[in-house]
This record gives sequence, structure tokens and C-alpha cells, in this order.
Amino acid sequence: MNRLWIAAITTALVLGGVALINTSQPQAVPKNGERGNWKQLSPEAKRVVEGCGTERAFTGKFLNHKEEGTYTCARCDSPLFSSTTKFDSGSGWPSFDDAIKGAVKEVPDPDGRRVEIRCARCDGHLGHVFRGERMTSKNTRHCVNSVALGFEDGPRSEAFFAGGCFWGVEHLIEEVPGVIRADSGYMGGHVKAPSYKAVTSGRSGHAETVRVIFNPDVVSYEKLARLFFEIHDPTQVDRQGPDRGPQYRSAVFVTDSEQERITYKLIGLLQKKGLKIATKVHAAEVFWPAEKYHQDYYKKTGKAPYCHSYVKRF
Ligand SMILES: [Zn+2]
Repeated sequence: MNRLWIAAITTALVLGGVALINTSQPQAVPKNGERGNWKQLSPEAKRVVEGCGTERAFTGKFLNHKEEGTYTCARCDSPLFSSTTKFDSGSGWPSFDDAIKGAVKEVPDPDGRRVEIRCARCDGHLGHVFRGERMTSKNTRHCVNSVALGFEDGPRSEAFFAGGCFWGVEHLIEEVPGVIRADSGYMGGHVKAPSYKAVTSGRSGHAETVRVIFNPDVVSYEKLARLFFEIHDPTQVDRQGPDRGPQYRSAVFVTDSEQERITYKLIGLLQKKGLKIATKVHAAEVFWPAEKYHQDYYKKTGKAPYCHSYVKRF
């Protein structure tokens, strides 16, 4: 196990299909901030997702839902569960015997017995996970509140790239067929719900980061990661073009061991070509969407990216 994954254990992420449980006391779920950067929730969804509540059994809209696709986080839209893992447990809540790798984190429930599950991208409450019930071959039941979920047709994956000002990275990646959406935001810092001002000061520790939600049947993670290394200059340290400071560092935040493997492979290919790569690879954490005026900046303004353009490097 390398250092990256040892670090991942300390942040209690669920990666590579292995559940890593944080031993510290669970923290309060962050609330949708004054910036309104996550989706607005109904009062009932707010009670469940932000107040760690539970919907009444046999009342949720996804209990008997049988379409093929991906169940997402009702608050931040991150893909959480594939419909292929859904099963009828008879419990009264939607049940899944596996989560998308790295998408769900586990924390000890305050009741001292159960294990709570939260969205790894927004820390919103989802439900609980139970093991050893022998209901499916995976012997695992993620018991999830319908009101904490959304649903999208087809498979969904996500990726996180930091390569300088997020306006340009978002703009160029969003054009790729198979990319459902790209969002500008912040990752890798040490304060909750940072503002642009706090990130720009360089003191919050966050990197300007783009979240990419894509259909892996149409575009692969490797294709997106290759493009990322060709639309920013991965040799620049703590800067990108005219933008200077650690918030503009080059980084890839990986959600699982496969993304980690691909990213290091690409870095190795570039190093063989003589490039001194500054890009750091970290385990993905909570993604804080940036203020609304940063989203689709170039589409809204009609301007062209000032420091991102395609340069063939592979
Ligand atoms: Zn979420």
C-alpha cells in the first residue's frame, strides 16, 4: 500500500471496494451554504440529508424503481449507486449491495451500533450500511433514503482535475462527447465551504478544481485525463500562466485505485518524454462547487480562455 492510500485511510474514504471506517466522532453534515452552491432540497430532503433523518419505511419514490441507470446524490449530483446493484431487501428502503467505488464514505453512527453512509462529495447523509445479513452474494446492504437520491439514465462516473483557473479547464473538458457536465469548484483544502475570496488568498489550501461527470460507455477516464494533461501545462509549479499561487497548482484527485493507476501511467509517459511533471495525485475529497458566476464562465461571457489551449504532449 503506498503513501497515497495510507493518507486515504485517515480521511475515511471508501476506495477500491474496501470500507475504511473513521474512528473519530462523526461531524455535523455541512449545510447548503448561503451561496446556494448545492441543489436546493425540499424540507423533507433537508431533514434527511442535512439533519441525518430517516424517511418513513415503504414511502420513498425509489423503493420499487426498476429502471436502468445511476442513482445520484440529491444534493450534489455525484453518482453513488448503479441500478445493477439494487435489490429488494423487504426493508422498506432502497437497497444496494455495492456503491460506486469511492462515492460513499462510512462513519460510525452516533447510536454506537450502526454504520452511517454519507456522500463522499458533499458529506450529505444517505442512510446506513449493514453487512453479514446474507441477502446477496456481496453480503452487504446499503440502506438508502429515496429522498437523498436522484436518478440519471445510463452509467455515470466522475473525475476531478485541477490545472489553474477553473474557467478554462471546465470550458475545454465540457466540449468532449460523453461529458455530461463539468463544474468549477474547490478541493484539497482544510476549511469547509470556502469562498472564492478565501481560495484566492491561497490560505484555504484548496485548488481550483473541475468536477467532470461523464458516461464511461462513451468516453473513458483515460481519455479525459490525457486531455487534462494537454490543455494545461503540467510542468508549472503552483501557477498556471499568469495565475500564481497554490490554488492554481496542478493536481488530479482520484476516486479509486483505477483512476490512480491511469494517472500515474500518464505522468510516467510524460516524464519519459523529458517533462518535469509538477502534477500531484491525491484521493478525492469533498468537492465545494464555486459560486454561480464561475460556472460556464466562457459560455456566459463569450470570451475565450486566456491560459488554456490544446498542446499535444503524448
Ligand atoms: Zn452529495
